[in-house]
Amino acid sequence: MSVPPRIGLTGGIASGKTTVANLFADLGATIIDTDVIAREVVEPGQPALGDIVAAFGDEVLRPDGSLDRAALRARIFASDEARKTLEAITHPRIRAETLRQADAAGGAYQVIVVPLLVESPLRGSVDRVLVVDCPEQVQIDRLVARDGESEDGARRILAAQSSRSERLAIADDVITNDGRLEDLQQQVADLHEIYRSLA
Ligand code: ATP
Repeated sequence: MSVPPRIGLTGGIASGKTTVANLFADLGATIIDTDVIAREVVEPGQPALGDIVAAFGDEVLRPDGSLDRAALRARIFASDEARKTLEAITHPRIRAETLRQADAAGGAYQVIVVPLLVESPLRGSVDRVLVVDCPEQVQIDRLVARDGESEDGARRILAAQSSRSERLAIADDVITNDGRLEDLQQQVADLHEIYRSLA
């Protein structure tokens, strides 16, 4: 049996990745969400959590032994080196589990949602890169509306991610999500036909 083509879906924060993934799912595509896998690999009992504690200390654990995400986020926000240390622990495991799930999942093609695909080792494991793109101001407006972020807070989050141009530089396909939901549906439907024909 041939392996289904793997499409890496990425985009900046609040660009519309989940919205686009849901539209692909409505058309019957197989979706694998690495955000979910990223949470699973750091659950208590998983080797990654032990490695994180060895690197960052007990202060990144809650009293119940689960990961204190806010404490860890504060550490990696403050230091590039700390972020790299964390990524060296989590990225290979996220990649391995993602590929395991992809191998088991089947389908005509697979959409693998990887928010930070530019930085991820999964980049080498997908056949095409699909970027959900929108102007930064639209991302900021959505962060303010959806998460109650301040305008400044939203700008800081964007600054900590790859830039719009870095993402577009790795794109094979681009979905523009700066307008109406119907425009988005049409773009997804067009790509669905292309991806099915790749199989
Ligand atoms: P995150 O990076 O935080 O996981 P995301 O990239 O998955 O976000 P979504 O959650 O899909 O983005 O979208 C962000 C917000 O913007 C949501 O509240 C969503 O409903 C809204 N949104 C996305 N696309 C549109 C659109 N075309 N029109 C109106 N609202 C939209």
